[in-house]
Amino acid sequence: MTQPPRVGVMGGTFDPIHHGHLVAASEVAARFELDEVVFVPTGVPTFKQDVEVTVAEHRYLMTVIATASNPRFTVSRVDVERPGVTYTVDTLRDLKERRPDADLFFITGADAVAQILEWKDAEQLFSMARFVAVTRPGHALSVEGLPVDRVSVLEIPALAISSTDVRARARAGEPVWYLVPDGVVQYIAKHGLYRGQS
Ligand code: ATP
Ligand code: MG
Repeated sequence: MTQPPRVGVMGGTFDPIHHGHLVAASEVAARFELDEVVFVPTGVPTFKQDVEVTVAEHRYLMTVIATASNPRFTVSRVDVERPGVTYTVDTLRDLKERRPDADLFFITGADAVAQILEWKDAEQLFSMARFVAVTRPGHALSVEGLPVDRVSVLEIPALAISSTDVRARARAGEPVWYLVPDGVVQYIAKHGLYRGQS
């Protein structure tokens, strides 16, 4: 009998995607024997739609560029295309609809995992996917209060990279080489992203 496909789900703003995201996804894929990891850039908050729709496309395209060379990495537009604020419960529901046979593994960093219980429909989330909490420099990893049978913890090689730092560097004209994939460095320069933002 064939096993259900094991599919990782890496949700994020990816503004921009960086090597911390990619290492986390790669490590979880290896450890949990995933067949695929779907990267899901978040949609836009409704209150800023005009400004941010373009940005969502940029974030999506940078995610495509960053993941293109890995045969197990794919990118989904479910969150980018769903109007309104992105909730993980909707992301998982939409992915499950497209892949009803798959076992989903939602990958999340220490900062995000600490907030899961505050997410919309938190109790439901754990029946929709297993959660893999990965370490992240500067953030204590605590899975207290989360269901132990549905949440795993994985220590990954520490990469103290954040999108916030990458944006600040781009804004200041400092190098972002090697923090993000080469194609993303070039994409940021080509489109003049993160210039003049606060
Ligand atoms: P920002 O600084 O804008 O918040 P970010 O670097 O935190 O960006 P996100 O898109 O917010 O990136 O993160 C998506 C997911 O990746 C989250 O679960 C986050 O915890 C995780 N993550 C981000 N950076 C790292 C890292 N360096 N190591 C491990 N996990 C990370
Ligand atoms: Mg973040």
